[in-house]
Amino acid sequence: MIAKVVLNNKEQNIDQIFDYQVPESLQSKLSVGMRVKVPFGFRNNAVEGIVVELAQSSEFKKLKPIKQILGNEPVCLEKILKLCLWISKKYFCSLYQAIRLATPPGMTLGIDEKTAKFVSLAIDTETAFTIKEELRAKGAVARARILEALIMNDNMPLAKLVKERGGSYEAVRGLQKSGYVTVEIQQVVRKAYDEEKYEKTTAYTPTDEQKVIIEHLYDAIENEKKERILLRGVTGSGKTEVFLQAIERVIEKGKNAIMLVPEISLTPQMVQRFVGRFGNRVAVIHSALSTGERFDQWNKIKKGEVRVVVGARSAIFSPMGNIGIIILDEEHENSYKSETAPRYHAIDVAEKIADDENAILLLASATPSVTEYYKAKNGEYTLFEMTKRYNESAMPQVDIVDMRGELFENKNRSPLSLKLQSEIQKNLDRGEKTILFLNRRGYSTFVSCRECGEVINCPECSIAMTYHKKKDSLSCHYCGYTIQNVTECPACGSKYVKYFGTGTQKIEEELKRLFPGAGVLRMDADTTSKKGGHEKILDEFRKKGEDILLGTQMVTKGLDFHEVTLVGVLAADTSLAVDDFRANERSFSLFTQVCGRAGRGERAGRAIIQTYQPYNTTIKYAKNHDYTAFYENEIIQRKRLNYPPFCDIIYIMVTGEDEAEVSACADGIGDEIKRYVQSNNNILSVLGPGPAPIEKIRNNYRYRILLKCKSQDNVQELLTSIYENHEKSRKKVFLSIDTNPVNMF
Ligand code: ADP
Ligand code: ZN
Ligand code: ZN
Repeated sequence: MIAKVVLNNKEQNIDQIFDYQVPESLQSKLSVGMRVKVPFGFRNNAVEGIVVELAQSSEFKKLKPIKQILGNEPVCLEKILKLCLWISKKYFCSLYQAIRLATPPGMTLGIDEKTAKFVSLAIDTETAFTIKEELRAKGAVARARILEALIMNDNMPLAKLVKERGGSYEAVRGLQKSGYVTVEIQQVVRKAYDEEKYEKTTAYTPTDEQKVIIEHLYDAIENEKKERILLRGVTGSGKTEVFLQAIERVIEKGKNAIMLVPEISLTPQMVQRFVGRFGNRVAVIHSALSTGERFDQWNKIKKGEVRVVVGARSAIFSPMGNIGIIILDEEHENSYKSETAPRYHAIDVAEKIADDENAILLLASATPSVTEYYKAKNGEYTLFEMTKRYNESAMPQVDIVDMRGELFENKNRSPLSLKLQSEIQKNLDRGEKTILFLNRRGYSTFVSCRECGEVINCPECSIAMTYHKKKDSLSCHYCGYTIQNVTECPACGSKYVKYFGTGTQKIEEELKRLFPGAGVLRMDADTTSKKGGHEKILDEFRKKGEDILLGTQMVTKGLDFHEVTLVGVLAADTSLAVDDFRANERSFSLFTQVCGRAGRGERAGRAIIQTYQPYNTTIKYAKNHDYTAFYENEIIQRKRLNYPPFCDIIYIMVTGEDEAEVSACADGIGDEIKRYVQSNNNILSVLGPGPAPIEKIRNNYRYRILLKCKSQDNVQELLTSIYENHEKSRKKVFLSIDTNPVNMF
């Protein structure tokens, strides 16, 4: 018997699949998807791999034998392996990178020292994986090894990392400084959910709007139709109730369900609704779980002990059999797209799985992405719309405040308009709660010289550093590099260095000044950096006496507080000004989401949008809660400018420490594309090669090429050839190919 084994080789992105002979003694135990140890290289080092195929014969002679089988069961189902193969081809990554997404995290820690220092990842495992590869390529072996161990185990004793995993104390400190890991005395172990705690719920009698779609779903489930459905329903229209009833019917038919929600919406409130309805038949997968818990959940799914998986993006790879329905709530969310290899979009993967399994695919959102809505309009999805809140409570009244008038007419220099101030005061008087949203993106405080204009940039990344008042320090949001704030301009020596912009800290101070008695909570990356920080703040906000919640993007989603009757958008312009063709789409969705936080209870809600461009059409449509008008206007612009859904944008990025090498590599790829364009009209336009908008991150230069093409499928062959040629060349330059990326910096 022959086994084809994909090796766990971190040095390269290209797959190494080798044939091994299966010794007689292992033949009855071995199956596809199992982990094995095999000898590799002329030194026959033991290397780990996963069996991807079993065969009777091999075209090669003199095969080495498999050394050992690891574990008793496959870690990857055969159908998932096939999916991974598809992923690796479509998204230009190695099969092993794809398999890593679909296999459980490390098994056991094997140690329990109660007072020992534990090291854990401070970044998500996918990012860690990419950073690890970069470190390894740079020769930073100790740091790479530590990340590697943590990716598999997520949380490990410091001593063990150093003694058994080839790390060093210095390397751990380095990683800690960069913000990649945290070192704590105890390990945090959290249960996925506490079933006892949740109240049992039963299905509600559907509203008229719900009834239409539920009956359609019942019919599709009954007749095992594979169908793609897009549900647009305003917030509070009862979409989740529709999901619950559809899943219930799927379970009755003996099938299973996968329910994806954006990580940020995966709150205890959300989980409660599923566990409340389906009890212990639910597995929950989220990033705050300990490794052990995550592994338990994964195992429960694999053994067929649960019928519903609720989780964020990567839960789409759950080892769930017999899938009847896949649901993606808030399908327009960016977090469904992975920004690190494999650079997949959960909708594409869900489509593929639903196709293979003959399952229903249900996408839902209050503000569908323009691309998916366009598809629905063109018959690729069956479209359903729910336009009323389930309790018929009115959508909030939205007012637009022209901030230009604030300065000139009202002589008000505060970032809070007089109108907003007076509304906040009304809420305080009535004991009602307020949410204030500040879009941080591109609006954080940076320090610059008033004499010569020099902006203090991170020395390792070509972007401005952010000022933190509390510590009077400057830090880089890309690499975590932090310095004491400067008092003198490094360029001209002037003492007039000042910080610009308005951050959440500054607004918090302003609120305390204007409303001395009010309880103000701030929620942003700084105040939620610890595990569970996010929930803690929300729990606080639920209390009496906490009147105002001020925050970044985090306050826009999923919060369902009936006492909130006022929402303020402090700087609508920042999201509109972003240099990306999706700026309008994102802004519309953002305004709709955040305004939708108001008036979810008995009392009517109101919202105030502060802007310097009060006649902006996106703001106007958001004020009127008019998605359709927004869409009709936007799709015309997309067509005129030839943007998705009318094309695919392929973002080819080359990075590395040596700028000459990076630029040469990008030029080489550029030439290949030029040759292709001469004989072929699949590519609509080419931008670059040239430096990316952010030219350097973590001391790595970044060059890019942007392609617009009718669809990725048309140029797949070209891209595959670019990818494979690059990976085979073993350059010290990294290549990534990303289709319709969420960020193009
Ligand atoms: P969405 O997911 O569209 O924001 P939800 O499903 O969360 O809406 O519904 C909003 C609220 O209305 C929830 O508290 C939910 O329990 C309740 N609800 C939804 N449908 C019904 C119904 N048919 N009868 C009674 N309450 C309902
Ligand atoms: Zn200066
Ligand atoms: Zn930096």
